[in-house]
Amino acid sequence: MISYFPQMYPDELLYSACARYKKHVNLKAQKTSVEILFGNRNLTATIDLPSNIKMLLEQIPSEVIASETLIKNHTLFPFFKPFLPLERVGKVYDLMLNNPDKQNIQGTIGLMSYGISSPRKLRFCEECVKEDRYLFGELYWHRNHQLPGVFYCDKHKKILLETTINYTSRGRKHYFVTLEEVIEGKLYHNFSNTFNEKSSEFLLNVSIMACDLLKQDITPIGFDNIRKNYIDLLSKEGYITPNYNVRFRDLINRFRNYFGYELLSKLESKIQKETDTWLHKLLRKPRVTCHPIRHILLLLFLKTDIMLFEKSRSNAIHPFGKGPWLCLNRVANHYQQPTINECKITYCKISKLPIGTLKCNCGFIYSRKGPDKGEEDRFKLDRIKCFGKVWIAECQHLFRDPKLSLRAKAKIMGVDPKTILKYSSKTGTDTTNKIKYVDTSELERRKEGILLTISNHTNPNRTIIRRDNAKDYTWHYRNNREWLYSILPSKYKNHRNIQRVNWSKVDEESLKQVKSAIAKVLKYEGKPVRITKAEISRRIDNPNLIEYSLKKIPRTKEILSKYIESTEEYQIRRINWVVNNWTNDNEISIWRIKRKAGIKGGTVFINKYLEIMLS
Ligand SMILES: [Zn+2]
Ligand SMILES: [Zn+2]
Repeated sequence: MISYFPQMYPDELLYSACARYKKHVNLKAQKTSVEILFGNRNLTATIDLPSNIKMLLEQIPSEVIASETLIKNHTLFPFFKPFLPLERVGKVYDLMLNNPDKQNIQGTIGLMSYGISSPRKLRFCEECVKEDRYLFGELYWHRNHQLPGVFYCDKHKKILLETTINYTSRGRKHYFVTLEEVIEGKLYHNFSNTFNEKSSEFLLNVSIMACDLLKQDITPIGFDNIRKNYIDLLSKEGYITPNYNVRFRDLINRFRNYFGYELLSKLESKIQKETDTWLHKLLRKPRVTCHPIRHILLLLFLKTDIMLFEKSRSNAIHPFGKGPWLCLNRVANHYQQPTINECKITYCKISKLPIGTLKCNCGFIYSRKGPDKGEEDRFKLDRIKCFGKVWIAECQHLFRDPKLSLRAKAKIMGVDPKTILKYSSKTGTDTTNKIKYVDTSELERRKEGILLTISNHTNPNRTIIRRDNAKDYTWHYRNNREWLYSILPSKYKNHRNIQRVNWSKVDEESLKQVKSAIAKVLKYEGKPVRITKAEISRRIDNPNLIEYSLKKIPRTKEILSKYIESTEEYQIRRINWVVNNWTNDNEISIWRIKRKAGIKGGTVFINKYLEIMLS
């Protein structure tokens, strides 16, 4: 574990943050920094698709960033993703998180067979340098500028300058170099390539579209969808014969004339033959992956852009029907009402079937495997991912109703009785509560059962009774353990006189301390501190308790799990704090709040929250 890692800047490469880390903590040896960050000194620092991200995230403070955000916003993966086959997307993603066998990610993605090489050196934009110096007081490597096929800064429309730092790790002496060090040491070429006017214009457009593709983070489009869209457009332009063949000769001629030799050779996408060119592969054999840059060229030629696929996708039949979707929270007043506007689709790794995750404002989140086959599937729920406030409050309310059996309550809430017990116990209630709500007739019957078994033995201990009457023993073990243990000595107790830890007491004590620690963190008026296990551990008498014995202290565990903050929850607390402490020097605005709260980008939810707050 390391206690510091720099917050990442917008569009900063992971490589860049690692380099800044090394500089900030003044590490001299390159190998050491790789080892500290990735737990392995033999790794190389990768620019485009870094691996072992999970390892890194275990080393650095948890509030810095989550793996999903990191891959989405700080690697080049979103650039390649849309055009990959689904199963490869999952594989590459997994390898980026964890790559114990050092598999070649570039190979897995198919970069080798693309025919377009990665940039040779790291690059930067002079205007961005000025701007970053002013905004952040520090320079960093922009992700956009390292995309293959990109020669211009999409923001300033200026040509990028090439440094002397190698892009691939091959022959790279320096693992991590900051842009700051490059500028100071003048490790870059002051001159840049010049292109003819036509090529420069196209190269700029390619750069803008490539950066856009990266930013959009488009979900994989699927080969059939890609092909269908291209064929539709080509058909409108007259490149398709009545027999649905592509008029390749015609297409290739116009394509070559449109872009010109200089541009196509600069982008390693020349078309010299008449047959089996990359355009043939892209259109005829869609199963061969094609480099995103070549897709961009075809899109530009067809005078459209990357959103073509997104538009067609939203028009295509949605695997879970058209929204809004139904909230299936049984106890919400809007049960089975169309209250959900967003359906997030992921794909099952094994069956490749779509899984829809639906999140209602009441906090209820559920998922189901698709596609929906009929109207009735709209009411189908496979897994509840989060119950949410409304549900939990109702659960606690219902739980106190003495007239209903636990089973009946479970039925009303749409879960099993165990879940009811789990969510009904309010913080700080006595554990004996659990007994109160057990069907008393069953309790008596079970007690009698055990007592009868005991009376058959002269020296009854837990092992013997469990063997003789497993049913009642297990029942008491689950529902009435304290009583069970009070009448049954453990096997060893008499012989060894082992001092047993009274966990129930420990639990009670730690619960008190944890509650007060949480209260202190929440009441703290300075910049909010995130509630993490580690933070709370530090504030109680025995910090090891939470780390090692949490299972044995269930009440403490429960309250902890209730208060441990997700990134989003913590961001909300920071936002509230910023707003509450707003001084009138500045007009309040979303970006000012975000900056003060240290939130870069933020999830859809966070942004909504901010909008609502300001409106
Ligand atoms: Zn720039
Ligand atoms: Zn709801």
